[in-house]
Amino acid sequence: METAVEYEKAFVPEFPSRIELELVSDCNLECVYCPRHYVEDLTNYIDLDLFKRLIDEAEPYPDTTLVLHRRGESLLHPQFVECCEYVRGKFKEVQIATNVTPLIDKKSEAIIESLDFISFSIDVPSRFDVTRLPAKYEPVEKKILRFLELNKGRIRTQVSMVQTAETPLDELDVFKENWKDKVDRVRIYQEHSNDGNFGSIMGGRFPRKPCMMPVYEMLIFCDGKTGRCNHDWDGPPMGDVTQNTIKEIWTNDNYADLREQHRTLKITDPVCAHCDSWYPEIGVQGTGQTLEQAVSGS
Ligand code: SF4
Repeated sequence: METAVEYEKAFVPEFPSRIELELVSDCNLECVYCPRHYVEDLTNYIDLDLFKRLIDEAEPYPDTTLVLHRRGESLLHPQFVECCEYVRGKFKEVQIATNVTPLIDKKSEAIIESLDFISFSIDVPSRFDVTRLPAKYEPVEKKILRFLELNKGRIRTQVSMVQTAETPLDELDVFKENWKDKVDRVRIYQEHSNDGNFGSIMGGRFPRKPCMMPVYEMLIFCDGKTGRCNHDWDGPPMGDVTQNTIKEIWTNDNYADLREQHRTLKITDPVCAHCDSWYPEIGVQGTGQTLEQAVSGS
């Protein structure tokens, strides 16, 4: 199998080239399609000292892409501005996504000064008020437009939404048309689960190929436990950064075993085994489930 050959040749860097570092697992919204409804105890905030220690460990690897969000709303962190300031200028790319509702000028300015990319998670106007509870479309749109006014094109911007069976198809073009001249990228994700289990909608992708995520990405939850990737919501931890360094976890037996499972396509890991969001190439999922319109930049 071609991808297995690629996997054999894949160079596992001494440090993950992409780290998703969750600042907050808590969220102020109850979006109807969010897998968080099926996960217990998502109410945590990363300790600032732990955050700084992890950034200090990653800093000698400036080519790392750092993603400062995962299961919750990062802008709720009481020390969010300090977190932004601490990463400023240290990495090739620092990204964040937000549901927009906690965005105020002070946080916008910290993001613009310190990060490289922001994604605003919204919905088409006709669905927003019933999917992104209890937020309302108009104030959220105003906040995005205010951010764009402050940003003046300095960091790259994206507006994204999740397309579900209830999304009116004719509104997708309206959505793209409305945002394409305002942000750098408009992205429409297909809903990938509706019962907390990945693969529950698409029903699997065949033939199964090894996933490249374990050779380039690490997910660190805000309590210090580490997961596989952004499709891992509460799987058995791969490690714990309160006990070990990032580098120790990246080279531990759990990772060696997971990579071997993917290389041989004998995947028994409880998260990866049922996942249909695997990445056959580094950074490329290639499912055809995402409509992406690169309007400018990125
Ligand atoms: S198979 Fe799925 S869960 Fe496993 S590492 Fe790849 S994307 Fe993540």
